[in-house]
Amino acid sequence: DILKFSLADFTYNDSEAVLSPPGDFDTWIQDPRVGLAMSFFEQPLHKSPRPRTELSGGHLGERRPVINLTSYNYLGLSTHPEVVQAAAQALMHYGVGASGAAMLSGTFDQHVKLSEELAAFKGQDACMLFSSGYGGNLGAIQGLMQKGDVLVIDSKCHRSVVDGATLSGAKMVSFAHNDAASLDETLSRYQGKRRLVVVEGVYSMDGDTADLPALLDVCDAHDVPLYLDEAHSSLVYGESGRGLGEHFGVEDRIGVHFGTLSKAFGGVGGFVCGEESIIRYLKCYAASFQFSCALPPAIVAAMRKSLEVATRDNTLREKLWANVRHFRSNLGAMGLDLGESTSQVIPIIVGSSGQQLIELAMAAQERGLYLQPIDFPAVESHSRRFRISVSAQLTAEDIDEASNIIEDVIAKPLGLVGAA
Ligand code: PMP
Repeated sequence: DILKFSLADFTYNDSEAVLSPPGDFDTWIQDPRVGLAMSFFEQPLHKSPRPRTELSGGHLGERRPVINLTSYNYLGLSTHPEVVQAAAQALMHYGVGASGAAMLSGTFDQHVKLSEELAAFKGQDACMLFSSGYGGNLGAIQGLMQKGDVLVIDSKCHRSVVDGATLSGAKMVSFAHNDAASLDETLSRYQGKRRLVVVEGVYSMDGDTADLPALLDVCDAHDVPLYLDEAHSSLVYGESGRGLGEHFGVEDRIGVHFGTLSKAFGGVGGFVCGEESIIRYLKCYAASFQFSCALPPAIVAAMRKSLEVATRDNTLREKLWANVRHFRSNLGAMGLDLGESTSQVIPIIVGSSGQQLIELAMAAQERGLYLQPIDFPAVESHSRRFRISVSAQLTAEDIDEASNIIEDVIAKPLGLVGAA
């Protein structure tokens, strides 16, 4: 009954949105297409998130070897021997859980050191850790904004930012994706209000990057701070891996620096770096920080090692970018629609049919390729896609083998290059 009640609120105007509950719960839950589509989500991996791993469920049934193009483990740090060893040693020393919220008993020496190291890495006064990236954005936005304020976000910002705005009671408005003129116009409309602009470094569904210099010019002209979510750009962009701010040489113009530990860092968690006063304030006002258990100390110790390994030289980043170039050139030669991507996140946009998306995912899995289908409402219904996350751990052979499968099971059926 609870489900029936809440589902009535969801009506998506898309007849093919199999995973989007319509008003009629009984029809939806019994629809065999829902069962089929759901089986392509939450498929269990049986080994580490390396490119060569094992998967079950979906169309596979039993566990089978696959090439994994889905994990956020961009630099391979989740399985890096030094990182794993740091985690193992800390696990033996500290035990499994933090057993308390950070403000109470959940802060260990590891948390203090990682916060200091991240702040130094980002060239900021201070840093605070959250137990997830989602919780980090949620808490930081909720803490920074108040009723009467206006949060101005890029239209493609992550759900955690949107939810933070809702919790804060501030008004939330979006500007056209990456469009400085639209940002200017939006900020002008709310002149006199306390405002904050939020953009992302790399956009997670499209793999394009924020036009930071142009957007910052607008923010500066309006004297409004910019909050930058570097979830997918931390350790990936910039000469030292500090992110897109470093890449564009604009770090000192960014008001709040946000990052996650769940992507290139290879672990889990979120962090916010900024002025001491901002961090001190957020520790008292970000509810997801105050009312949630701190990160496990072993994960924190591992993240310190990830930071050290990824910043000691550029080896992993250079390997990642070489792989991105290799993959992009293979996929481009097939005539696939890769959208606006310029980063390690590469969408293959296949169009408007949810049924076709699942059929293509099935065909890929049958050939031993694990591709993540992304359906409406995560993306617009005309641009259903697969999303490839390139990793530094892919070998040239992995990339060529995966590309051959993509050509056979996606490019050819879509009538692109090589079609019979
Ligand atoms: N911000 C962005 C831009 C993201 O893509 C994500 C997750 N994909 C998050 C925040 C949330 O991070 P986490 O998965 O670490 O909770």
